[in-house]
Amino acid sequence: MIIAPRTVKLTTRTGIDIQRTLPHRYIRTIGAWCFIDHFGPTEQENAMSVVAHPHVGLQTVSWLFAGEVEHRDSLGSIQIIHPGELNLMTAGHGIAHSELSSTTAGLMHGVQLWTVLPESARDGAAYFDHYNDLPVFKKDQLDIRLFVGELFGHTSPARTFSEMVGAEIDVPAGTMTQLPINESYEYGLLVVAGDLRVNDEQVPVEYLYYQFLGSEEFKIESTGGAKVVLLGGVPFGEEIMMWWNFIGRTHEEIEEMRLDWESQSNRFPAFEDQVHGRIPAPAMPNLRLTPRGNVSSS
Ligand code: MN
Repeated sequence: MIIAPRTVKLTTRTGIDIQRTLPHRYIRTIGAWCFIDHFGPTEQENAMSVVAHPHVGLQTVSWLFAGEVEHRDSLGSIQIIHPGELNLMTAGHGIAHSELSSTTAGLMHGVQLWTVLPESARDGAAYFDHYNDLPVFKKDQLDIRLFVGELFGHTSPARTFSEMVGAEIDVPAGTMTQLPINESYEYGLLVVAGDLRVNDEQVPVEYLYYQFLGSEEFKIESTGGAKVVLLGGVPFGEEIMMWWNFIGRTHEEIEEMRLDWESQSNRFPAFEDQVHGRIPAPAMPNLRLTPRGNVSSS
């Protein structure tokens, strides 16, 4: 199955568009991956300027191909991220953060991904982790940067709570290869540049190739070269409720998270940054939110 992106405004401040492929109407999660935003490449100044906003019950995974972004959060973290480095924020019970891209770095290109935290961690402590020494290796002709999980005998040190994988793969021009994959994982392959064929299907830039579990390999081909993000994991078994920047399990939980943000409760301590501001939560919908799993599994 090939998932087309939809265009979403990242921020009303700068008007930059991002391409979102997950969640999708039928595919809510790929392993514990529950959100895929692809932004750029763009030369727009302050392309990413997202003022303080909260998260609960998820991890944000920031990964750049070009540019520089400064992260600040309510734990007091201040961290600039560069290409090949990982900013991993575990929200647990609650955290707030802001993100501001550098005005001097020129081109800006990257992904922001979320993972859903399992029951055992979703109400736990918040963490911010930065990794700048991640596994980089070759597999056949492919150049791989592993940011999360395990792949081809390599392991990322990144803090995870589910069995999953995330990697940037550079596919050189003229590639034709069979990539062995884990039969107990489902996978997504997001094309961020170039031309790619997966299992004899052309996958355009910005599109996500989805593979249900049970497959032993991907057939990967590229004529002129491509850059791809590989995401995968054991299907996430819990039904979840994603609303705005929160993931919960019940309507009441989401209402409480929203009220805690709106009332500036100490669930989301205030912090200083250069972006200045605070994104207000949208109004709750009139209907009751209902938990969702993947359509294929519910
Ligand atoms: Mn965020």
